[in-house]
Amino acid sequence: MPELPEVETIVRHLRRDIGGKRIARSRLLWERLVAAPTSDRFVRHLPGRRIVAIDRRGKYILIHLDDGYYWIVHLRMTGRFRYLPPGTEDAEERHLRFVARFDDGSSLRFINPRKFARFYLVPRAEMIVGHLGLEPLSVDFTAEALAEALRHRRQAIKPLLMGQAVVAGLGNIYTCEALWRAGIDPRAAASTLTTEEIEALREAIVAVLVAAIRRGGSTLGDGQYLTPDGARGEAQEALGVYGKAGQSCPRCGTPIIRFVQSGRSTYACPHCQGIVEANEKPHPKVELGR
Ligand SMILES: [Zn+2]
Repeated sequence: MPELPEVETIVRHLRRDIGGKRIARSRLLWERLVAAPTSDRFVRHLPGRRIVAIDRRGKYILIHLDDGYYWIVHLRMTGRFRYLPPGTEDAEERHLRFVARFDDGSSLRFINPRKFARFYLVPRAEMIVGHLGLEPLSVDFTAEALAEALRHRRQAIKPLLMGQAVVAGLGNIYTCEALWRAGIDPRAAASTLTTEEIEALREAIVAVLVAAIRRGGSTLGDGQYLTPDGARGEAQEALGVYGKAGQSCPRCGTPIIRFVQSGRSTYACPHCQGIVEANEKPHPKVELGR
């Protein structure tokens, strides 16, 4: 699933590829892609509109149109944009769900094998992204703000970070990476983190995200995430723990463990993150192992 670094990489490509262009035609091939308003209204709204800005909030892409409306995109599991420059062959693509053609002859295609992605067309972006927590690459993401957001949360820190209400944009990969980098047990109750741990966590989240953006996001074995020009990301090559159960921790050499938390695989270093083995009892419900 694309997380903040992948979405940010896509946004940067889209700015360059379609920023300032006017939409000439739009074609929807899967009606339920549009969550709001109706698919008819969405498709009829776009032609004639110029794209004035493209931003990101959490994992959402915000395409600002010249009439004040926002075309908002959530890629979910497998959503992917493909940009075709003017004069490019309109190659047949499986799982094609939407096409926008621009007045310069270029087009933007949306491919979505698993059909979970969603488009929205709204007059105010807050209608869709208003529920999101702190934006980790903004100046508002301070240790104080993070501490305040975690204060009364008794949930384990890892699923809480993935839930979007405290911090926006983190999924499984970068949550595992940030907690490892900060040396925090993914099962720790959020409200029990010390001031030092919260500061370390804030720094780790920013560092992990910035490093991944620099490498164009992570393309894992499924190959689902590609940039709009069809390229793979390279951030997966710099991951510390995610997907590396049994391999040595890059920091201390201890074998990395995998366990299931809220239905998702958690990868962690038991030494760096102070994780006590299951047979030592404090967390009897957690199964440790490959
Ligand atoms: Zn370690």
